[in-house]
Amino acid sequence: MAKKQFKAESKRLLDLMINSIYTHKEIFLREIISNASDAMDKLAYKALTDDKVAVDRSELKITLTPDQIARTLTISDNGIGMTREELESNLGTIARSGSLQFKEEMAKQEKAEGDTTDIIGQFGVGFYSAFMVADHVSVTSRAYGSDEAFRWESDGADGYTITPCDKERVGTDIVLHIKANTEEDHYDEYLEQYRLSDLVKKYSDYIHYPIVMLMHKSRQKPRPEDAGDDYKPEWEDFDEWETLNSMVPLWQRPKSEVKPEEYNQFYKEKYGDWEDPLSVIHVSAEGTVEYKAMLYIPAHAPFDFHTREYQKGLQLYSSGVLIMDKCADLLPDHFRFVKGVVDSQDFSLNISREMLQHTRQLKVIATNLEKKIKAELLRLQKDDREKYEQFWKAFGIQLKVGVVSDYGAHKDLLRDLLLFFSSKEGKLTSLAEYKERMPEEQPYIYYACGEDTAQLDKLPQAERIRDKGYEILYLTDEPDQFVINALGELDGKAFKSVDDDDALPETDEEKAALEQQAEESKPVLDFLKEVLGDQIKEARISKLLKTGAVCLTADGPITLEMEKYFQKMDP
Ligand code: ADP
Ligand code: MG
Repeated sequence: MAKKQFKAESKRLLDLMINSIYTHKEIFLREIISNASDAMDKLAYKALTDDKVAVDRSELKITLTPDQIARTLTISDNGIGMTREELESNLGTIARSGSLQFKEEMAKQEKAEGDTTDIIGQFGVGFYSAFMVADHVSVTSRAYGSDEAFRWESDGADGYTITPCDKERVGTDIVLHIKANTEEDHYDEYLEQYRLSDLVKKYSDYIHYPIVMLMHKSRQKPRPEDAGDDYKPEWEDFDEWETLNSMVPLWQRPKSEVKPEEYNQFYKEKYGDWEDPLSVIHVSAEGTVEYKAMLYIPAHAPFDFHTREYQKGLQLYSSGVLIMDKCADLLPDHFRFVKGVVDSQDFSLNISREMLQHTRQLKVIATNLEKKIKAELLRLQKDDREKYEQFWKAFGIQLKVGVVSDYGAHKDLLRDLLLFFSSKEGKLTSLAEYKERMPEEQPYIYYACGEDTAQLDKLPQAERIRDKGYEILYLTDEPDQFVINALGELDGKAFKSVDDDDALPETDEEKAALEQQAEESKPVLDFLKEVLGDQIKEARISKLLKTGAVCLTADGPITLEMEKYFQKMDP
């Protein structure tokens, strides 16, 4: 049978895997086990949502079988399995989101360091990692609801075959033919029970299905009743099934017992990110609704974040059983970048069928989580500014959109989280920090809209305001003006555009001087109007300028920047 070729990008990833350095090779087991666990989750989930599917959850497990003579390690699951088409599309290409990002990052890192091996250890790289330790991989699978089975086989980079075969039970058996030892690399250990057992404890302890292995052990025989003084203890060999993992999900463990690496590893594995999250929020709530939650704030926006494909939501578990994969009701839109899980016994297993009855509980949890997320972001803003600014760069725009949306319903919640560029500080500032620096007599909170901060720094209108020691927020993002309009004011102080005519209230003297100046300048102003004609509404003496000679001002409540924005939207 003719071999099919891998897609080009898969080939590259495969090469990278096969040549990865020794210390990372061991993660292949974690990858294969996590796929097996996913497959069982999918089957259990199907059973929840479809009355015709009956699955006994207690039967679901992952079995490891090393065979030192054949040099194989078999990882079996009784999950949902794969059809022929699924074998083809899931294992024949790497088109997954995670891999795409991986590749991009890889290219970047390659340039920077000339070395790509490090990310392999950090990031969930998936099924292909099997080729780090195996020179031949076969995947025998029977999909749920099908009586056919197929075998996918490959020696690595030069392609794969798929052939029909027999398999009695639904699920997947992955057989890795373990490579022979070389001078530098040792592979024999992946056939040793105790090494495998350690690897499961290290990487897959929290997997909530049993990972079992028939362990070969020996024990002392019981001392016979009639044994004399010269009795020498005898030993016997026996085999015993052992569950290798503790099955306690990370979020069920007390916060004090979870190491930062464990949080991060879980995140990267589960959400296919190569970078550690900025923050973890681990909640154990008691009260009207009891739940555990583990939320993550990513360090960067996923590549599809700004597309329609991106779906917000948290995974919802009931006592460790996944009942909903992306529960959108648990996250407000302005925090849609948050990833994580919520586990509550208060939900029944068939929540998807009776969602409505649970909306109250969901609301309580969602409101609590929203508060926790805000508190954590504020903490970052105060205590770890660098991280917060990284967060702001990635998701600030989402918060701004949040302020404007739903008729400003969320503005009070989000206001404290906003950052704007400050004329005084030369960097980003929060509104609270602005207020703290503000002189008491300052009448307004000033802002100026423009393309970039350097340009705004030269704005003639801003000079007089800055001279008074007042700080100006430089707004350079398109929605900024709308954000300011939605906010309206801050603790009683209104926002004021620097090109507003009455940006600086003048004294009576100043007023008189201005009137006189206008009188004297009438010929010049008339001349300007005559020359420019319809291009301007009027030419007048400005109170705003100091050393600058002229400036443009918008007519009415809309600023020039907004006008530009509307013109762009309306071609
Ligand atoms: P990921 O797990 O991130 O999707 P992988 O490379 O680990 O990527 O796996 C690719 C796909 O192959 C999975 O998404 C899944 O559809 C399928 N797959 C892998 N292992 C199994 C398995 N044991 N049972 C069912 N499907 C599997
Ligand atoms: Mg996987």
